[in-house]
Amino acid sequence: TRRKLVAGNWKMNGVQADLPQVRAIAECAARTPEIDVALCVPFTLIAPAVAVAGGLSIGAQDVHAEASGAHTGCVSAAMLKEAGADCVIVGHSERRADQHETSHDAWAKAAAAHGAGLNVILCVGETEAERDAGRAERVVQAQIEKSVPDNAAPEWFTLSYEPRWAIGTGRTPQADDIAAIHAIARAQLRRMVGDAADGIRILYGGSVTGDNAAAIIGIDNVDGALVGGASLTAEKFMPIIEAAA
Ligand code: 13P
Repeated sequence: TRRKLVAGNWKMNGVQADLPQVRAIAECAARTPEIDVALCVPFTLIAPAVAVAGGLSIGAQDVHAEASGAHTGCVSAAMLKEAGADCVIVGHSERRADQHETSHDAWAKAAAAHGAGLNVILCVGETEAERDAGRAERVVQAQIEKSVPDNAAPEWFTLSYEPRWAIGTGRTPQADDIAAIHAIARAQLRRMVGDAADGIRILYGGSVTGDNAAAIIGIDNVDGALVGGASLTAEKFMPIIEAAA
């Protein structure tokens, strides 16, 4: 059986004044030891967050695929590890859209992160146009095929299905649609990594709130949630953590 994981993604939000929220989220996580909780903060907040996080897992939201070199503005996996991160999101749709990242980039970043001892949360998901064209399942399957490293294992690798049109919109897919994508994702993982696919967690992300978390996390093959807006305060995030526990 797969332990549930609830991960927050603060995106480009969070300064030192928000550290009390990190502390409160950590306290909530400590009260729900039956699930895993992680909080992915901006680079600048990793070390300060680790300092107040107790046992809460702190992560980053991106990493460079190279170990070092002439890449102005970028951060390597070893740097994240040194700052105290233990996980990193790769392939988020905002990076695919804003920084033109590809599934191949996500693959290389996942491999680099794993090489440095970081856990990886790799995101896939269709656009609204792709869903309307009936292509959501094919798109997600192809993204998985191109971005998941073939040594992906439950100990360090988590997949997250985040339909782009559900991110920050207050709209979520029907439960059946989430179940269908997660089943296809599990089957694709199985083709790639064999039995290890049964242990790999597949999160859902996109407009998860305290109100819908229990229903979404209760769907077959949904092993937790990746949460944006509702992870920014302990008040909003705690009900999601509790719903998963
Ligand atoms: P929201 O929860 O704000 O919709 O964001 C989801 C997301 O992109 C998490 O990575």
